Amino acid sequence: MSLKGKTAVITGSNSGIGLGVARELAKIGVNVVLNSYTDGEDDHKLAADIASEFGVTARYIRADMSKSGDCRALIEKAGTCDILINNAGIQHVAPVQDFPIEKWDAIIAINMSSAFHTTAAALPVMRDAGWGRVINIASAHGLRASPFKSAYVTAKHGVVGMTKVVALETAKEPITANAICPGYVLTAMVEKQIPATAKEYGISEDEAIEKVILAKQPSKEFVTVEQLAGIVTFLCSDAASQITGTTIAADGGWTSQ
Ligand code: NAD
Repeated sequence: MSLKGKTAVITGSNSGIGLGVARELAKIGVNVVLNSYTDGEDDHKLAADIASEFGVTARYIRADMSKSGDCRALIEKAGTCDILINNAGIQHVAPVQDFPIEKWDAIIAINMSSAFHTTAAALPVMRDAGWGRVINIASAHGLRASPFKSAYVTAKHGVVGMTKVVALETAKEPITANAICPGYVLTAMVEKQIPATAKEYGISEDEAIEKVILAKQPSKEFVTVEQLAGIVTFLCSDAASQITGTTIAADGGWTSQ
């Protein structure tokens, strides 16, 4: 079945993995809804550029994924949602005893609870359409832990658990729910972590990349946005119709250790 003309809502998609996934889906004819919490000219231009480059409908809808009402309103404003990519996420690195409470609350809300709210709003829409794909961009940190990332690891493990529940609740329908668990991808999120990791470990930024960040990734290579977009496209294909409730790790071997 062709994906042409279907609509994908991608949370947190004005940069990084979300934007890459949106572009890849648009390339194969999927209409896309971009999102973040800002509402700048640049945000709307990203959507306009995708529309003119790929000849699809592309919109940018502002919604703050830390707010349950905004998450649900995003799906409502999108009007339709055949493919839901829960991708919005932030990071903060600190030991548990010093972890700022507001950062904990924000990470749990944006990285985990938002996926619950958007999925709850999107499932009835998918059921009406008779087809759907829920794809959660979790992390290798949904399967493994690292020090100083209590909120992120908790949220991503939560997303993996929620993915399995959604898969069970939709198992008899033409809807699937899966999580992609990337290792490190060199996006803005990781670029910000390099100085923070260097500080926590008391080492230089180069050492932080080599000895801490890519230390976990046996391939010693960053995962690319294009590779993740390819996995999303596969999960939307007919070949993946019976793949549901699982995690696909794209982590250079990290979680095989
Ligand atoms: P990124 O910082 O480029 O993208 C994060 C996106 O989330 C941005 O578009 C940002 O605007 C958006 N966002 C942040 N707060 C938001 C809010 N309150 N409401 C709506 N949108 C919000 O980083 P990325 O690496 O592309 O991250 C995308 C996803 O991939 C995240 O969930 C992240 O945890 C996950 N991930 C990233 C890596 C990596 O190494 N980069 C690895 C595994 C998983």
